[in-house]
Amino acid sequence: MPDLTTHSYWACETCASWQTTVNGHLVAWGPTPGGQCVYGWSCDCKGFKFRQRCRHVDAAEPQRCGWQQFVHGGEPSGDRCPRCGGALVAESHAV
Ligand SMILES: [Zn+2]
Ligand SMILES: [Zn+2]
Repeated sequence: MPDLTTHSYWACETCASWQTTVNGHLVAWGPTPGGQCVYGWSCDCKGFKFRQRCRHVDAAEPQRCGWQQFVHGGEPSGDRCPRCGGALVAESHAV
């Protein structure tokens, strides 16, 4: 057993799952099918199925907050995300 210390950090709920609609297409961020703890984008359009990327994802990406204390630093404001004011989830990182 590796001797790892895990620390808990806060992350914006949009890191775990998030979705929006762009021009009638459902664009979602979340765990990828079959992948464990691998997050990515999905869209229901044909272009995405073909390339795993599309203009709907391009349009949605800047709208997702995605704040992670471990990555971006900072502190929660109260119990809300300091960037978007949304809900927070706890995540653990081994250091
Ligand atoms: Zn699309
Ligand atoms: Zn946020």
